[in-house]
Amino acid sequence: MLFGVAEPELVDVVVVGLGVGGEEVAERLAEAGLSVVGVERDLVGGECPYWGCIPSKMMIRAANALAEARRVDGLAGTAQVQPDWAPVAKRIREEATDTWDDTVAAERFIGKGGRLVRGSGRLDGPRRVRVGEQVFEARHGVVLGTGTRPSVPPIDGLADTPYWTNHQAIEVEELPESLLVLGGGAIGLELAQVFARFGVRVTVVEALDRVLAIEEPEASEVADAALRADGVEIHTGVRAERVEHDGTRFTVRGGGAEFTADRLLVVTGRKAHLTELGLDTIGLDANQRYLPVDDRLHVTDHVWAVGDLTGEGAFTHIAMYQAGIVIADILATARQARAGADASGTSSVVGGAMGASSSLAASGSSGSAGTVPRADYRALPRVTFTDPEIGAVGLTEQQARERGINVQVGFTKLGSSTRGWIHRVGDDGFIKLVADADQGVLIGATSVGPAGGEVLSALVVAVHAAVPLSQLRHMIYAYPTFHRAIETALGDLS
Ligand SMILES: Cc1cc2nc3c(=O)[nH]c(=O)nc-3n(C[C@H](O)[C@H](O)[C@H](O)COP(=O)(O)OP(=O)(O)OC[C@H]3O[C@@H](n4cnc5c(N)ncnc54)[C@H](O)[C@@H]3O)c2cc1C
Repeated sequence: MLFGVAEPELVDVVVVGLGVGGEEVAERLAEAGLSVVGVERDLVGGECPYWGCIPSKMMIRAANALAEARRVDGLAGTAQVQPDWAPVAKRIREEATDTWDDTVAAERFIGKGGRLVRGSGRLDGPRRVRVGEQVFEARHGVVLGTGTRPSVPPIDGLADTPYWTNHQAIEVEELPESLLVLGGGAIGLELAQVFARFGVRVTVVEALDRVLAIEEPEASEVADAALRADGVEIHTGVRAERVEHDGTRFTVRGGGAEFTADRLLVVTGRKAHLTELGLDTIGLDANQRYLPVDDRLHVTDHVWAVGDLTGEGAFTHIAMYQAGIVIADILATARQARAGADASGTSSVVGGAMGASSSLAASGSSGSAGTVPRADYRALPRVTFTDPEIGAVGLTEQQARERGINVQVGFTKLGSSTRGWIHRVGDDGFIKLVADADQGVLIGATSVGPAGGEVLSALVVAVHAAVPLSQLRHMIYAYPTFHRAIETALGDLS
């Protein structure tokens, strides 16, 4: 301590935010022998395991089981269904989240040699991170993985009401009788369908002219119809202007209409909170929506970012993909520093307290900066886990046309495939292909159906590896599968 100012503590890497991306980076670097400080202000693991992907997919699994049981009539006899939320809430509490306790994740990180510091981290100059009174200086650099939080629109009155975000919707133990969902994107639709299938009267209010507006219009149509069939009321093109809560019920007014319900769920997008990160201390602008990164996830020298924060797609698979690149890059940086130090005879300084040299040599994750992979988002897959599932990869038709690409489109309905016809009830869906006619490859595709997210995998490979259309046309597609519809859609490309 110098005149009341904490001396910085020297470590190899500081990771701020241990969500999906940050946790992966911190664990793998610690495992490789670097001295890693991981800073987390809430739960190690972040949004996905506690309030996102995992509990929401448990809810969807349960809701889909109800829907399948309701399809027994006319196919296999009769079935009576009595929905009960209690086992769903119990499973989320006990299996998914340990009642929102991160002990297991924290101990796993510590067990791999990482040092967990609880609190809010912010940059405090180049390579420095401050957490309260503690300051860390990172030899190799700082990784920011602070994610996003729900973006709550500035609607008159909303802030003063006890509205739900995804946190309360996931934590709910007793379902309300009625629910208003503000936002018809992927998260809004997934949760709306779940609650409706458990008997909640759900109304979705969406400002744009269709739900799931970032996907193909045909996908929006199927999602819209599927939710309505589950009893969800959908109002598109309605911008909420005022929200009130009278102590019991919510009222939302907008577009000359009025909607009321017991609960209000706000799922209108996510927001990175850059102003909290001390970016100004390294000369960066904090007044941006996301933190721009290059294709090795560098924000600037010795600062990397991973996950939702980068604005490259708010998906766990993006955070994990980016984490892999950052890990390879930092290990390559550490090796170069090590080699330089060995050459100048100062290796004890660079090797650090945790004996990085031997572990780094053994980890073999990356040889040199030249072999570090570069991020490529051309084949970014995304799945909306409604029933039917809506999988998509690459560009939509409109995005491709806006880029001036010579576009060909192929389309087929799943119901007209053999498997769709056999499946009968619940077979809504389609395959839509977007091809670059000049290059003779697929540049985007949408796969909607009972297994739309799984069928998508073949299309992701095709877009990722730029498989020539001629080869796709001469593959053998198993009969009678849902994915065989890809062959029909290829035949329709024009
Ligand atoms: C309801 C819902 C369902 C979803 N379903 C899916 C899905 O099915 N598939 C999919 O791929 N994605 C899904 N997602 C998205 C997925 O959860 C995110 O893309 C993913 O969690 C992003 O990971 P991340 O590492 O960027 O950040 P996060 O998981 O948001 O973690 C960031 C962490 O940083 C911490 N933090 C923030 N600021 C600081 C600070 N200054 N100091 C210290 N710690 C800090 C936070 O406490 C948090 O733990 C879903 C999201 C939601 C909300």
